[in-house]
Amino acid sequence: MALRFSNTLTHQVEEFVPARDNTVRMYTCGPTVYSYAHIGNFRSFMFYDILRRWLRLRGLKLDHVMNITDVDDKIIRNAVAERKSLAEYTAIYEKAFLDDCEALRLERPERLVRATEHIPEMAKAIQQLADREYTYRSDGSIYYRIAKFPEYGKLSHSDFSGMRSGARVDVDEYEKADARDFVLWKAPKDGEPFWDTELGPGRPGWHIECSVMAIQYLGETLDIHAGGIDLVFPHHENEIAQSEALTGKPFARFWMHAEFLLVEGQKMSKSLGNFFTLRDILAQGHQPEAVRYLLASAPYRKALNFTFDGLKSAATAIERLRNYKLRLESGKFSGRDADALLARTAQARKEFDESLDDDLNTAQALASVFEYVRETNTLMDSGEFPVAAVEPALGLLGRFDSVFDVLQPNTKQGTLSSPEIEARITQRAQAKKAKDFAGADRIRQELLEQGIVLEDTKDGVRWKRK
Ligand SMILES: [Zn+2]
Repeated sequence: MALRFSNTLTHQVEEFVPARDNTVRMYTCGPTVYSYAHIGNFRSFMFYDILRRWLRLRGLKLDHVMNITDVDDKIIRNAVAERKSLAEYTAIYEKAFLDDCEALRLERPERLVRATEHIPEMAKAIQQLADREYTYRSDGSIYYRIAKFPEYGKLSHSDFSGMRSGARVDVDEYEKADARDFVLWKAPKDGEPFWDTELGPGRPGWHIECSVMAIQYLGETLDIHAGGIDLVFPHHENEIAQSEALTGKPFARFWMHAEFLLVEGQKMSKSLGNFFTLRDILAQGHQPEAVRYLLASAPYRKALNFTFDGLKSAATAIERLRNYKLRLESGKFSGRDADALLARTAQARKEFDESLDDDLNTAQALASVFEYVRETNTLMDSGEFPVAAVEPALGLLGRFDSVFDVLQPNTKQGTLSSPEIEARITQRAQAKKAKDFAGADRIRQELLEQGIVLEDTKDGVRWKRK
């Protein structure tokens, strides 16, 4: 079966093939760097990561652009309140976002682009829209006239034909009942940052940045545009209105959206006390790999219920797979019948691939791996596992891990490898020999913080994990 994805635009599951040269031109909506990203945000970023990895494993090349929204209503409000420049304020949260992505092992898109570095291009696009009479001015701001774009509503499958013409909205985010002419360019307010452009002074609205940067880097028609489900309306609907008015071409062939994340069965909100950043969760001692596994384990089109029990189960599942890998690498096997198991391994691998080809069904892909692990662990217990099956079984785990990426322990979180530990013990011995006792103690303390206990015996230093 071919690779196929659910397309929000058509409400169909469709076969996916890039339009040209085996390269997927993909745009995903990135973070607004006004605060630390929360775990619901990371559900979307995890979806992008799984999508990237699977497209590549399917032999496709990637040209993936993601924006960093570093100017919007919330950023300006917070930066002004903290008496920082926009750049000073957003640098903090952009770095935090990239650090969080690294902890979660999210691949970096080919291009990460900042909105504030594309203001002249946005002004130019707005001028082009104005030339084609898609816009009007009011109080120094410029609005998109949605009555001029009859297809408005085609992505969210909404009929907006009865709406009031000329009603306007200035904020970047608004509700579906509120389809109104949206702002492209905002007139400067007292004390707020602005740019001087061919349109006069002001700043861009949120929606125009994605249209402009996507077209600039990827061309007029993208293969895939992805985001969280909350972006379908108004953000993506507005992106379509802007982009298609500019180019006269379909803006994206596939629109893909990740469903909501719930926490303990409820919508995440600060007032319910179930609002978590990644940092909050890691500070409670959870491993980033467990968070990664949990976020990846539900198919992106299903709502994901993030629970602390689920996080513990994720850690257990990872441990089971790591132990299995260790057993494969270090066990002695003497089973005789290799053929049946080789066929079973090929079948598991086929199931894994077909699950991900089926609109990235990660739950099904995991099930096929765990069923295989369960069966072959039993064969190992009874001495029936043949040595000829070791490499193919490791191959299956390798394929699993090139998507899920949880098998390698996180060395930053206190799981130094044995060679790393031994290297530190040698350094400590050298420090002692040079009578640098403070240095030696420091190394002992550092290792202790990583969960490694040293014991000085008459036969030398022994170590163990706490
Ligand atoms: Zn966007």
